Amino acid sequence: MHILVVEDERRLADLLRRVLTEERHVADVAYDGASGLDMALGGAYDLLILDLMLPIMDGFTICREVRKAKLDAPVLMLTARGAVEDRVTGLKTGADDYLVKPFAMEELLARVEALLRRRDRELDMSRQMRVADLTLDLTRHEARRGERLIELTPKEFALLEYLMRNAGQTLTRTQIVDHVWRYDAEALSNVVDIYIHYLRDKVDRGAEHPLIKTVRGVGYRIERQ
Ligand code: CA
Repeated sequence: MHILVVEDERRLADLLRRVLTEERHVADVAYDGASGLDMALGGAYDLLILDLMLPIMDGFTICREVRKAKLDAPVLMLTARGAVEDRVTGLKTGADDYLVKPFAMEELLARVEALLRRRDRELDMSRQMRVADLTLDLTRHEARRGERLIELTPKEFALLEYLMRNAGQTLTRTQIVDHVWRYDAEALSNVVDIYIHYLRDKVDRGAEHPLIKTVRGVGYRIERQ
């Protein structure tokens, strides 16, 4: 999974990245609140780990802005303070869990896995997705553009599902490979370009408003309508 760590204590931030990477997650790190928020808004993360006290912008504000932008990635808040009011404020701003420093890495990893499992269950329950007139039915494994049924291979379906889950956000080739091809060593970033080409041909061909956009030098995005 793709995890963002926003933590200004560099040693802790780098340790978190290392520990998460060992657990086969992909972790990005920001050392201040403003760049953390930028990354959170642009990154299509599966989980955010936010320190509370940060330069420029605190963890509460990041969390509030992320929720305002309708991003529903779970948020784990870290703080040196254990006060009840911090906990309450944290949960009110949309944080899902709370961990008081200093903590054991095992404890952090257990919380991370629990939040990711909960998110998976919630995503499983939303079995229908829609962007403009494009719909994806995960139960019947069907894609439609308006009334037209689109025949997709399993990989094309997984790619479209990932784009639609993150509609409005640009996804890098690396993120797409991580999610759609998992740890398949054969998967290279040019595989993404090839599959996007197939998908575009099936989803957007002849459509008045093409939905799959190329973001030059970055990756791909499906427009949120
Ligand atoms: Ca701090």
